[in-house]
Amino acid sequence: MTARIISGTEIARQITEEVRQEVADLKTHHGVTPGLATVLVGADPASQVYVGSKVKMCQNLGIYSERIDLPADTIEEKLLACVRELNGNPRIHGILVQVPLPKHINEAKVLFAIDPAKDVDGFHPVSVGRMVIGEPGFLPCTPHGIQVLLERSGIKTDGAEVVVVGRSNIVGKPIANILLQKAAGANATVTICHSATRDIASHTRRADILIAAIGKPRYITADMVKEGVVVIDVGTNEIGRTAEGKRILAGDVDFEAVKEKAGAITPVPGGVGPMTIIMLMANTVRAARMAAGLD
Ligand code: NAP
Repeated sequence: MTARIISGTEIARQITEEVRQEVADLKTHHGVTPGLATVLVGADPASQVYVGSKVKMCQNLGIYSERIDLPADTIEEKLLACVRELNGNPRIHGILVQVPLPKHINEAKVLFAIDPAKDVDGFHPVSVGRMVIGEPGFLPCTPHGIQVLLERSGIKTDGAEVVVVGRSNIVGKPIANILLQKAAGANATVTICHSATRDIASHTRRADILIAAIGKPRYITADMVKEGVVVIDVGTNEIGRTAEGKRILAGDVDFEAVKEKAGAITPVPGGVGPMTIIMLMANTVRAARMAAGLD
């Protein structure tokens, strides 16, 4: 059997049109323009690309955006002052501080300084707490994107055996918590594996839905999955460059071999990746609606 390919690109495109419509409705009916501030410290090339695409996406959707570029030697107090100013800026509904930050800055201190009402990345402890206890709040963009990918692909999570490999705060732990909730689009039995897990394959082979967020190219091989499994590959690993200097990416799953056994699988690129940025835009629109008392 060859797996159905779950196209994140296509699903993200549908959501983009929905968010565009929501932005237009907010402007027309409520006079509200959602606003996102992105803060970048230093000139890390990958971070510049990420911030650039977020700004471009805002422009594409009619979301107001402010990009703040600070030099790499910016002191922590200055960055905190910048965050405080954005917290008080009524044009800004969402604040994103691009990580990683330079080593001399305490990342947690900066992220925790963001007003939870503007925490569109979903990394503030208030957002994390709300997610864990199942209260409405901002869900982190990549895991939320995975949940939406599953829902829109018609994959049932209710009662499913979900195995997550990876326990990072940005992917593994939140997706496990999201799918564990007693709620629609969740209600799964969840196992989390990590680098200290004994005999990972004994867990992955039980999975109806396997989520790989490890950061190791092609780590999940065909002998580690059961027939018909749904595979969500979060891994985005650079394994080389083309002659033109373009990045060649591989996921955490051995796609070619695993797709012969799986029921459905996300490709890399074109799977989880495109979902992350559109979920950020959706969170920004939601933050604007909440600020206007509409949600
Ligand atoms: P991370 O912070 O490095 O975490 C990796 C996790 O994998 C850790 O929990 C680690 O375990 C576990 N792990 C590492 N080696 C393992 C092994 N041999 N067996 C079992 N578990 C192992 O990575 P991340 O930020 O979650 O990202 C994971 C991947 O997803 C990366 O390729 C990243 O580029 C990609 N990613 C993609 C998107 C997107 O939008 N598509 C977003 C975020 C991340 P320990 O905790 O024990 O160390």
